[in-house]
Amino acid sequence: MMNSRRRYFPCPYCALVCHRSDNVVRHIRSVHFRQYSFCCQFCGKGLGDRTAYNKHVTSKHGHVTGQTNQQQTEQTVMTSSQ
Ligand SMILES: [Zn+2]
Ligand SMILES: [Zn+2]
Repeated sequence: MMNSRRRYFPCPYCALVCHRSDNVVRHIRSVHFRQYSFCCQFCGKGLGDRTAYNKHVTSKHGHVTGQTNQQQTEQTVMTSSQ
């Protein structure tokens, strides 16, 4: 009863239980749907989001990921046609 405030987020596809909802989402995408938004250009490993990608590249390969093409695309979209 004392730990009733702690929430758990079970995976609907397997027995995995996480403490954070975003961890479950990442797990489902990577394990059950095999959706990788970012693919490591050095070893080909798939990462679920930019944070995980940057962390992987920095820790595994010693590179700091700077600019990406997606940021340029976002800025282009935001340009108003006034
Ligand atoms: Zn699962
Ligand atoms: Zn890699």
